[in-house]
Amino acid sequence: MIKTRMILTLLLVLAATTLYAQKRALETINESDLKAHLEFVAGDLMQGRDFFTDIPGLEITADYLKAQSMKMGLKPGGESYFQSVAMISSVPDQDNSYFELKGEGDSVLYHDNTIFSLGGPSGNDTVHAELVFAGYGWYDDKTKYNDTEGIDIKDKIVVVMTRNPELVKEGKQTDTNVEMRKMQKALMGGAKALVIVPDPKNPDDNFVESIRKYATGGSLSLEGAKSRRTMPIRLVFGNLELANMIVRESGKTMAQLQQEIQESGQPKSFVVESCSAKLQLVKKTSKIEGKNIIAVVEGSDPILKNECVVYTAHYDHLGMQGEGEIFNGADDNGTGTVALLEIAEAFQSLKKKPRRSIVFAWVTAEEKGLIGSDYYSQNPVFPLENTLADINLDMVGRSAEKEPEEGAELEKSLAGPNGLYIVSGKQSSELIELSEKVCGELGLEPSDELSDAFLSRSDYFHFYKNGIPVLGLSTGLHEDYHKVSDELDKIDYTKMKRVAQYAFLVGEKVANQKKRIVVDKPAVE
Ligand SMILES: [Zn+2]
Repeated sequence: MIKTRMILTLLLVLAATTLYAQKRALETINESDLKAHLEFVAGDLMQGRDFFTDIPGLEITADYLKAQSMKMGLKPGGESYFQSVAMISSVPDQDNSYFELKGEGDSVLYHDNTIFSLGGPSGNDTVHAELVFAGYGWYDDKTKYNDTEGIDIKDKIVVVMTRNPELVKEGKQTDTNVEMRKMQKALMGGAKALVIVPDPKNPDDNFVESIRKYATGGSLSLEGAKSRRTMPIRLVFGNLELANMIVRESGKTMAQLQQEIQESGQPKSFVVESCSAKLQLVKKTSKIEGKNIIAVVEGSDPILKNECVVYTAHYDHLGMQGEGEIFNGADDNGTGTVALLEIAEAFQSLKKKPRRSIVFAWVTAEEKGLIGSDYYSQNPVFPLENTLADINLDMVGRSAEKEPEEGAELEKSLAGPNGLYIVSGKQSSELIELSEKVCGELGLEPSDELSDAFLSRSDYFHFYKNGIPVLGLSTGLHEDYHKVSDELDKIDYTKMKRVAQYAFLVGEKVANQKKRIVVDKPAVE
């Protein structure tokens, strides 16, 4: 009797001590620390944490994360905290890219080197082809309006203007979906290239300009990777002056042709007879080095410490644009970046570490196509078969006044005060159960509504596709997403703290429980 009671008391004391340690660890994650880190990482001096900025803010952030990891006593993931990520940068060579109108005997009628291109073949490329003016390049299912009806665009360079008859009638702006449908149509017709110019009725439309930043910013890819980010067709953007030269033989300007289309409801497309076009697209490539920062809390079990739970967050963002506009990316992904620091601090505060090791990976070039996490998944610190789960934090610092309505559009998915999106491939029912339990403890309301749309949209993807259970945490999209207005003053630090605490508790449980979490649904590619 006495003996049992003693054991019981001992167990209770032990349980209380563990709980106390956990509570103390949770308290190390607090609003003021998060704020202090975030004001540094998402401050103007970092210039939007991108490659090629005047002040190397991305590098400085990497140094900051390394310094904080050292200060906390985390171990470096390899020989150092930096994992070098070799990448190829490919930037349009504006000086050597051009669009030329050719007349009789190869004569040059017009030379334009202001064009820019999105995608197309990855290498350098020259095409010489006949031209077609195809109005808006549009097809309307309802009215059967078809800009290329009766015109063969195969092997031609097709010139179109932005928007479509309906949008013009309604005075609405164009968007990427509308213009991409034109690309599909041109592609299906076998065109060599699609040239999009601003429509004359809407000179202020900034669609083409907004593409310019993206297109001329170039692209990055992992060295040795097959380029997967090329468009299936040469997609070129030009100006009205060029288009007016092309349609000149009709005796009309672009503005007049557009007016006729709008008035008659009929296409005014034609094959250009008086000239052909030579299009040259050249890219400059160079090697650049990116960095993942990797820090480790070693597990306390001599055998299980060879297994791990990985926390990931990308620390890069979109840099700058135009006259000093800075994309500070306070939420995307300053929040995830600094939350990882606080989670690491919580683990370090535990006297007895979890049985398994914990890896913190701040990954680079997410905004360029999940490149840093791709590299990590190919060069992990612990083998992937010993990686139990990836917990990724991307945009975890915002709250709406109330929870979004059910079935709300993605852009309006910002969670309310208690909402938390958890993207998962549901590979482990045990992990989901565990996650729900922790949400319950913290009063968070989990939603997996973003899972379908977002499974390939952040760094967890490279873990998911390797069959590793993932939890992709986010407080949802908002109107400041990928805008200069994604700023510090909109951050909800209490929410961020709760998300970080959730992440800590879930990871701690997975890393510390005796049995490995069950993976009952393997990934499907
Ligand atoms: Zn992000």
